[in-house]
Amino acid sequence: PIETWDSEDSESKQLPIYQHRNKLTQAVKNSPFLVVTGETGSGKTTQLPQYLHRAGFCKYGKIAITQPRRVAAITVAQRVAQEMRCPLGREVGYQVRFDDCTSQDTVVKYMTDGCLLREVLADPGLSQYSVVILDEIHERSLNTDILLGLLKKIFSNPAKATKGRAFPLKVVVMSATLESDKLSSFLGDCPVFAIPGRTFPVTCTFGSAIGPKDIESTAYVKEVVKMAFDVHTSEVAGDILVFLTGQSEIERACDLLFEKAETVDYRFDVQDPTVEGLLILPLYGSMPTDQQRQIFQPPPPGIRKCVVATNIAATSLTINGIKYIIDSGFVKQLNHNSRVGMDILEVVPISKSEAQQRAGRAGRISAGKCFRIYTKEFWEKSMPEYTIPEIQRTSLTAVVLTLKCLGVNDVISFPYLDRPEERFILEALKQLYQFDAIDRRGRVTQLGELMVEFPLHPGLTRSLLKAASLGCQDLLLPVAAMLSVENIFIRPGRPEKQKEADKKHRGLATRVGSMNDFATLLSIFQSCKSSDRPSAWCKENWIHWRALKSAFSVETQLREILLRLQQRNFPVETFDGNKSELLRQCLCTGYFTNVARRSMGKVFCTMDGHGSMVHIHPSSSLFDQEAELNWVIFHDVLVTSRVYIRTVCPIRYEWVKDLLPKLHEVDVYELSSVARE
Ligand code: ADP
Ligand code: MG
Repeated sequence: PIETWDSEDSESKQLPIYQHRNKLTQAVKNSPFLVVTGETGSGKTTQLPQYLHRAGFCKYGKIAITQPRRVAAITVAQRVAQEMRCPLGREVGYQVRFDDCTSQDTVVKYMTDGCLLREVLADPGLSQYSVVILDEIHERSLNTDILLGLLKKIFSNPAKATKGRAFPLKVVVMSATLESDKLSSFLGDCPVFAIPGRTFPVTCTFGSAIGPKDIESTAYVKEVVKMAFDVHTSEVAGDILVFLTGQSEIERACDLLFEKAETVDYRFDVQDPTVEGLLILPLYGSMPTDQQRQIFQPPPPGIRKCVVATNIAATSLTINGIKYIIDSGFVKQLNHNSRVGMDILEVVPISKSEAQQRAGRAGRISAGKCFRIYTKEFWEKSMPEYTIPEIQRTSLTAVVLTLKCLGVNDVISFPYLDRPEERFILEALKQLYQFDAIDRRGRVTQLGELMVEFPLHPGLTRSLLKAASLGCQDLLLPVAAMLSVENIFIRPGRPEKQKEADKKHRGLATRVGSMNDFATLLSIFQSCKSSDRPSAWCKENWIHWRALKSAFSVETQLREILLRLQQRNFPVETFDGNKSELLRQCLCTGYFTNVARRSMGKVFCTMDGHGSMVHIHPSSSLFDQEAELNWVIFHDVLVTSRVYIRTVCPIRYEWVKDLLPKLHEVDVYELSSVARE
């Protein structure tokens, strides 16, 4: 019991969860598994770990709280550190891929689900922890779903759950939606704790701008801007939250809003109190965290805040003061595209349940309004009822390798909350076999055991390991790091500036000699690193210095992983080809699944059995050089009206000749035989 509870933070006492703190900690104590549900913003993520901390759970180990999104892990940790009055990284810390802000003192650890999955790999008993909280279950991210199955598998058995522990591990699963019955029955009918919410009604209106025919159009950006401005000029005080799709759309919308705000005198005669101005704030994943912090601060008196955000503001982060929602009706989502046979980020209509969640954000403080820019017809014809869980729509390659390395050989009958289609599992097995991570019988190879250690796409890891076995990791480590960070190239909005930037970027490519986008990345990395004034170098070359700094840090971390592995039984090979072709030949080992051959004019055809017709993206240094090319490999694809390949590199047929048959001659039935035994 925590009768002597005395939080200095009066704000947190106002949260719905506060009334239930004693019962809640007791419920965690009483059962190995617990499902906690409560409206977004009720205080689950920020408060429950603090209650458990105060109730003494940290005596037996740390408290882990997973988040599907890295930004959420970071911002929430910042908030909780502030509430607990300790510097971030001490008692409260966070860990996300390539960024660990924890110390020996850390007992409340916010982390991405991917990071906890890696920890399970190193220590399946999670012996460091007393409580593991899987948060944002309703998001149904791939890693959270897998963790849920794993924790069920490992800790449902009381003997295993207490093995080597003074106190059995407690698993708490938190969700904003009311799928609690399904979760509870999945976890052996465990208890459910529902935090009663208090929400206000939200009136929703449909627009006339976006109909079922506009699915491929980008008109929604302009439409949300128009709507935001209408709301600003005609509605009583209260902040606005705009839901858009991704960074570039958000930046464009903010630019448009700024332009409008400059040209319009916005001291309107609206009802009391008068809204004088509009404070425009973008919010997306790869934004610097100091800028993100601003989002939560109340606007100056008389100013209306307008946050333009990705889906991150739908459930992971709650911004106080929101009264108006403007819903674009779209989301950027990673989907398996059966046309090209790979995962791609695409803009798709949101589901109806997602739209309801978005609208609900307007009703936390008082009655709110939600303005949907799409028509009722769009709602009825284009929007699915529910969002499909990520596990049922993306590649499972990395996750299947992780499971296999954990000894879960039978990846088909693994306890999935929602089972992926068997062909997705078979596809993952096939890819792992192609990368030599598993053998013909579906058993993990030595190489597979090495591959699982890298938080990268298995193909990229395969290339990196090939390079390391040839002793030329210095070529691949920077490339892998550069491919792991976002937004390296600055793309200015104004056309004349864009020309200048393009010219600089082309210059960086030609400096490498042969046109090859991977080598360009390597060259940027090296030139910047060896420069006396790296930030000035970046500015001059229209490169984001922040991205390069991250790439340097990522490269160091990948190098450390590699060094650690090289102390094990590490393969060594010799190279008898031309040294100048070393980088490209290493890349072929992991990218032969992404090979295309020019068929006619500027059109290439992929060789993976899908035979998709693809074009080189204009951002590639090989754009307009197509006539001189025959075979190429590429890092990823972008699907618009055409299929574009990005980060491209010319290769010779001989380098992939022996690998290409692997794309077709795989007996998936045999690969899954272990699973079927
Ligand atoms: P839940 O997890 O139930 O959705 P949270 O614990 O995330 O709820 O949020 C509880 C409250 O904490 C909300 O009112 C939210 O606005 C506030 N909050 C969370 N993070 C921050 C932050 N970084 N700065 C200011 N307030 C925050
Ligand atoms: Mg939360």
